[in-house]
Amino acid sequence: MKLVTYCKSCKKDTRIKSNAATRPDLQMEKGDEFNVSCQNCEKVEKKHVNDVKAEPNNTIILIGVGIGIIATIILWSLFGAIGTVSVIIPLLFWYQQMDATKGFNSYMIRRR
Ligand SMILES: [Zn+2]
Repeated sequence: MKLVTYCKSCKKDTRIKSNAATRPDLQMEKGDEFNVSCQNCEKVEKKHVNDVKAEPNNTIILIGVGIGIIATIILWSLFGAIGTVSVIIPLLFWYQQMDATKGFNSYMIRRR
């Protein structure tokens, strides 16, 4: 999962550097409002924690696909057709990303 916010200046999403898993975690880490410097146009904007949205991290899903392919090849050579159960590995990675993203996006902080 990656955290992004919209830059009004260049109208692109910019990534927020944080490992927060949920919106309250992000609030604890950065406060209700914090400055974000855009990765595209370098403009600094003040953002509310609710302006942040989570997106699935495609890199992690690709890693899952890679692990799935390798595991399938190894298991196939050892056990034959039953080795194909490992095609579920990328799905688990994908599901984990979607679930984490949904969890983050569905929870909003009450504005004070
Ligand atoms: Zn920008």
